[in-house]
Amino acid sequence: MASKVILVTGASGLVGNAVKKVALEERDAGDKWVFVSSKDANLESEAETMALFEKHKPTHVIHLAAMVGGLFRNLAFNLDFFRCNMKINDNVLHACFVHGVKKCVSCLSTCAFPDKITYPINELNLHDGPPHDSNFGFAYAKRMLDVMNRGYNSQHNCTFTSVIPTNVFGPHDNFNLQDGHALPGLVHKGYLAKKENKPFVIWGTGSPRRQFIYSLDLARVIIWVLREYDDVSPMIASVGEEDEVSIKEAAEMVVRAHGFKGKIVYDTSKSDGQFKKTASNAKLRKYLPDFKFTPTEKAIQETVDWFIKNYETARK
Ligand code: NAP
Ligand code: GDP
Repeated sequence: MASKVILVTGASGLVGNAVKKVALEERDAGDKWVFVSSKDANLESEAETMALFEKHKPTHVIHLAAMVGGLFRNLAFNLDFFRCNMKINDNVLHACFVHGVKKCVSCLSTCAFPDKITYPINELNLHDGPPHDSNFGFAYAKRMLDVMNRGYNSQHNCTFTSVIPTNVFGPHDNFNLQDGHALPGLVHKGYLAKKENKPFVIWGTGSPRRQFIYSLDLARVIIWVLREYDDVSPMIASVGEEDEVSIKEAAEMVVRAHGFKGKIVYDTSKSDGQFKKTASNAKLRKYLPDFKFTPTEKAIQETVDWFIKNYETARK
């Protein structure tokens, strides 16, 4: 019998595919991994969620499933982000409790942190003030995951915890121009600009700053948390503060990766969103001082290469 049955929700997405790749490479012979998407169960439905847990009887859960989107999808659908993610998270954590799951690791996001805060942000700041207006629905739903983790622990002694990633990117991202995040949007726009010999358009001023984490690095952190970290309090998963870059700098890396030589323009009619959300990875570094993040430029090159190779089937 497998020593652990590890259920991964949201396995068809950006982070889920990375967890799958790392898990298969690092596979502990005793573990059984089960990777599910919305095709296996709509986690907004309590009945479907319970049936999924009944079927697979997980001992451990990596909970990644969520309604996800970049700045512009968040601006348009704040209410949907709140309702959908509240339902999914309540159903998944309750199913974990009912089925006696030993450890559940969920994903929050650094956009759940307060907007007006002193930098760098750390894990203790999560509930210190309102999030940025642009994504308040998503942010409050993510904060409630932390509230539920604490509640299941204090009332039922469960070990449900969370990782707080900064902006993630990599293969299998959502490259849709309207709905996706900045990095995949820039990769897609760079591809089209080169192919159609048109200007490469960066939305906003390019001055906002972000810490980008490669999905495969995040996957390694999540799997480490699942195996080794037994505390309920969240753990920021981020590159260092010194590795924060502007959207302009990230776009320039995308341009280099595509070998695009044309004109670059800024569409300042588009929102800049939150200026920055610089997070400290001191807690992660305390546990994993030697963890090596993939250099951003290299990770962007790999993502661009993946997108070009998989253009026909990529989400876009
Ligand atoms: P993603 O690529 O959009 O994938 C989302 C996953 O959730 C997909 O597998 C999707 O399944 C599944 N899902 C969505 N609604 C569902 C439902 N009602 N029932 C069952 N499954 C459902 O997202 P991601 O970027 O990998 O994000 C994974 C986690 O990381 C999320 O919790 C997200 O908030 C967090 N995170 C992401 C970022 C980022 O920059 N991307 C940053 C910080 C935190 P289908 O494919 O079947 O639709
Ligand atoms: P956020 O980090 O949660 O704010 O979300 P995003 O990943 O969507 O990043 C938004 C920032 O990138 C804003 O400053 C946007 O103006 C800028 N940006 C530049 N080009 C794009 C693009 O093609 N798509 C997206 N989503 N944002 C872009």
